[in-house]
This record gives sequence, C-alpha cells and structure tokens, in this order.
Amino acid sequence: MSPAAAGSSSSSVSARGATRADDGLARALAAIVGERRVLERPGELRAYESDGLPGYQQRPSLAVFPGTRDETIAVVRLFAERGVRFVPRGAGTGLSGGALADDIVLLGLHRLRRIVSIDAENCRAVV
Ligand SMILES: Cc1cc2nc3c(=O)[nH]c(=O)nc-3n(C[C@H](O)[C@H](O)[C@H](O)COP(=O)(O)OP(=O)(O)OC[C@H]3O[C@@H](n4cnc5c(N)ncnc54)[C@H](O)[C@@H]3O)c2cc1C
Repeated sequence: MSPAAAGSSSSSVSARGATRADDGLARALAAIVGERRVLERPGELRAYESDGLPGYQQRPSLAVFPGTRDETIAVVRLFAERGVRFVPRGAGTGLSGGALADDIVLLGLHRLRRIVSIDAENCRAVV
C-alpha cells in the first residue's frame, strides 16, 4: 500500500467530493468497524491533523479505525469500490507529514497491535 493517498486515480471526483457527496460513507464504514471507530466531527479529527511534526497540519475529512485484518480489508475494499482516497496512519510519529490526510480519509491502523510475526532481518512485522 502506498503511503500516499491511494484509491481510484482515474476518478475525476475530488477527495472532498468523494467523501461529502457520498453521505453514506460514514454509515457504511460504521457498519464494518462500529460507530465509535468512525470520526467525523472537526473536534474529534483535530487529534489526527498532525504527526510528529506538529508545526504542519492537515485535517482529514473523516477517520476510520479498523481493529482486525478482516475489518481493514473490508474498509479498503469499500474505498476502492467508491473511489475514496485515503492515507494510512500508524502511530503518527513520522516527521515528514506523510500520515496527514488533507481533507481526505484517514485510515488509522493503531488498533492492529497483536504481533503475528517479526522478521528482524528484513525489518518487517506482521500485526
Ligand atoms: C521523537 C521522535 C524520535 C524518533 N526517532 C527515530 C529514530 O530513532 N529512528 C527512526 O528510524 N525514526 C525515528 N522517528 C521517526 C518515526 O518514529 C518513524 O518514522 C516511525 O517509524 C513512523 O511510524 P508510524 O507508525 O508512527 O507511522 P506514521 O507516522 O503513522 O506514518 C509514516 C508514513 O507511513 C505511512 N504508513 C503508516 N502505516 C502504514 C501502513 N500500514 N501501510 C502503508 N503505509 C503506512 C503513512 O501514510 C506515512 O506516510 C522518530 C520520531 C519522533 C517523533
């Protein structure tokens, strides 16, 4: 998955249009992950408007936090079906603004904390 915005690159629909014109997106996401795991209010989204570089801020239009592999797959499938652009975020400690979603959807992955395997040689962990 690219750290940059992913999704339908051929769509002429802007990220703003893809999320706001689609009133059912938050509801469809909530059906997958539960209502508490979908944030829409500006006040709630403030926590995700910067990474480890707090001087640079971009607020997402919506944030979703799947808790399992299957939920993550279902959420990303939904984004692909609807042409919704998104940015994945881990702990948000990057220092280059790569985890900021500028008025597009933030896919928060910090709930995926169960370590399945660690490949130290290749610096790879499966969670
Ligand atoms: C105080 C401090 C000290 C630090 N010290 C070090 C250090 O000693 N060594 C070092 O190497 N780094 C250091 N860093 C940098 C930072 O911790 C690393 O960049 C960290 O690995 C980022 O991980 P994250 O999960 O927080 O990613 P995020 O900040 O959430 O994201 C970083 C990038 O990865 C992308 N991304 C996140 N999750 C996924 C995913 N599942 N799939 C695809 N793309 C994804 C994001 O979109 C973004 O572009 C430090 C940062 C801070 C704030």
